[in-house]
Amino acid sequence: MSLISTRSSEAVTASQAILAGMAPGGGLYVPCVFSPISQREILQMTAQPYARRAARVLEAFLDDFTSAEIAGAAEEAYARFDAPEVAPVCMLSGLDGPTHVLELFHGPTLAFKDVALQLLPRLTRLAMEKRGEKRELFVLVATSGDTGKAALEGFAGVPGTRCAVFYPSEGVSAAQCLQMVTQTGSNTHVIAVRGNFDDAQNGVKRIFADQDFAADMDACGRVLSSANSINFGRLAPQVAYYFSAYADMVASQAITLGQKVHFVVPTGNFGNILAAEYARRMGLPVGKLLCASNSNNVLADFMERGVYDPRRPFRRTISPSMDILISSNLERLLFELCDRDGALVARWMQALKAGQPYDIGADRLRALREVFVGDWVDDSATRETIQRVWQRARYLMDPHTAVAARTLMDYRNRTGDPTPAVIVATASPFKFGREVARALLGDVVTQGLDDFACCDLLADACGVDVPPRIAGLPSLPVRHNALIGAGDMADELRRIVGAAD
Ligand SMILES: *Cc1c(COP(=O)(O)O)cnc(C)c1O
Repeated sequence: MSLISTRSSEAVTASQAILAGMAPGGGLYVPCVFSPISQREILQMTAQPYARRAARVLEAFLDDFTSAEIAGAAEEAYARFDAPEVAPVCMLSGLDGPTHVLELFHGPTLAFKDVALQLLPRLTRLAMEKRGEKRELFVLVATSGDTGKAALEGFAGVPGTRCAVFYPSEGVSAAQCLQMVTQTGSNTHVIAVRGNFDDAQNGVKRIFADQDFAADMDACGRVLSSANSINFGRLAPQVAYYFSAYADMVASQAITLGQKVHFVVPTGNFGNILAAEYARRMGLPVGKLLCASNSNNVLADFMERGVYDPRRPFRRTISPSMDILISSNLERLLFELCDRDGALVARWMQALKAGQPYDIGADRLRALREVFVGDWVDDSATRETIQRVWQRARYLMDPHTAVAARTLMDYRNRTGDPTPAVIVATASPFKFGREVARALLGDVVTQGLDDFACCDLLADACGVDVPPRIAGLPSLPVRHNALIGAGDMADELRRIVGAAD
């Protein structure tokens, strides 16, 4: 039993946690202990490929998986990345202070969610075998764009699983839509829902709450599941790349073993940066964790005042994957900050559910701020940063990554802190080619162009190639064209399983 819930002391194994997703009573699963990884082991990682490094870190969390199972899953998952290093670190020159970028966008969908979502289906499959789960796992996802495609790529072709993604007919970009509707794999299903993201998301929530629907699925040998970012199987793979980045920096002599580095993380649901905190608790020499938000600045305020207050307008920004007011994974950090007092966490989460703020108090705020620094960046500063980083360092950043870069620049200006820093790059600039082209080349030239023409323009101007996974999209055959009303989602799923049988 290696995991417990943030809201009760019930303990489970890793395979139970991965299949359950959320703990009973609404809590999240967290490790019972953070077992250390020594500096000697970090040194050993310098000579290992990424999948080996990842397997070592995962072994610390997945108590009822064998070493061979973990190694096999990691090797399969990361063979699909387009960089041999999987998560390469590059050094930027021309910025103030030693600055590195950890590129997490070399997976099939060109964004960091691939790192976890390529592994999760494989871990899920193993967990099903261990628990004697014979039913087909039917994964339902509502997406505003990126998570859906990453889940489809992860589950496509994985035996014993099926994945259905609902996206809003109004609200995903042309490139995002094409990425999804051209998805291959006989166990993948992509359905447009008339309306906006909330319509699709509420529809999926209704299906998960519908007992009759669950009984129907059980009767035909299926069990519903989700792939969202509170699943422990998505969190654990993310801890690995912080160790990997550190090992690479030791190998390139950018740092000496044991030297502290800061990580700067573009943050939405708090999963990515929480993984960095877990790495720190396991012994990785981390200085500060800079939590970078866009204009949805609830986390920056929280880290300033110790009060989490979601009562503010939701803002659409050019870094849409961070447009979030309730960061689910923060609950796991709160649990540590209050010395694992599940009852207290439950009270705070109840307040939040009722739309009310909660206050962690001065002592916990002080402990939080020993490690975390929160800040936020608006769209105009984000655009300016894309331009500045290109001009000074000849490095192209997507808007999410640029939010992190600006947070680091402002922090260094404020503090003069010379510690080496790693900016975590969460998406390829070509995934958000329109915004990056606008920031670098101006509104006038990009007006009236589609996403793909913007990418071509950007590639020409910067002397680089559009990644084949984007450039090739318009010529792929469309395989999914269902368009339904939000009230018809359950029927559509019944139709899908009927056709599959
Ligand atoms: C999901 C996402 C984020 C936010 O990550 P969290 O783990 O939710 O904090 C940042 N950037 C991109 C490109 C993403 O897709």
